[in-house]
Amino acid sequence: MQIVLIGPPGAGKGTIGERLAGTCGGTHLSTGDILRDAVARGTALGKKAETYVEAGRLVPQEILGEVVAERLAREKRFVLDGYPRTVEQAEFLSGLPFVKIDAVIYAEVDEEETARRLAGRLLCPACGAVTNADAGDGVCGRCGSEELAARADDRLDTVQARYDIYQRETAPVVEYYRAAGLLREIDATGSREEVFARAEAAIRPLMTCGDDNG
Ligand code: ADP
Repeated sequence: MQIVLIGPPGAGKGTIGERLAGTCGGTHLSTGDILRDAVARGTALGKKAETYVEAGRLVPQEILGEVVAERLAREKRFVLDGYPRTVEQAEFLSGLPFVKIDAVIYAEVDEEETARRLAGRLLCPACGAVTNADAGDGVCGRCGSEELAARADDRLDTVQARYDIYQRETAPVVEYYRAAGLLREIDATGSREEVFARAEAAIRPLMTCGDDNG
């Protein structure tokens, strides 16, 4: 099964993606995670992408396209989170011979709620887990690290810029997939459990876990 996750910054795509991938034994591929990891390790990709990621701007397709193609070529089942973010990227993805998207989950949440979530979001630099300042005691629930930190692009002005880019560049991608008959819209407000249950229900009719063509 090949699934794409789309939604505004703060919609919870990372959490949904990780769990959906677990449900179907596929790989959760987040372009945001791939890029942050490359920046942190100072790789060639990281050096090219750093200024864009930290300012909340889109990394140019000439830089990212090849990386995405190379990762997807190795996966039969995946949940792709954070890509495509532009119609150009959506067309690029459709043109890859080994990609056949089964469904696109669109996680909907309004701007006020995304701003509230991002303001409190904390990232564990040790294991990559994401948590929220209102929910925890400053300790990573996954690996126990006490070094939780805000993401560099979660500053208020950067969040606004990311939301504007989302409206301008990514909202048309939603329409692109609606026209292709692939879009499954889910309400991404409420608890993580509720949102995940909606995401799972949206793709349940397509579930072919264990299927070789999956
Ligand atoms: P968000 O919380 O905004 O959904 P992500 O973790 O998906 O954040 O992405 C973080 C940053 O990584 C983006 O603001 C952008 O700089 C870069 N990025 C991720 N995916 C893409 C993409 N498909 N195209 C261009 N840039 C991307």
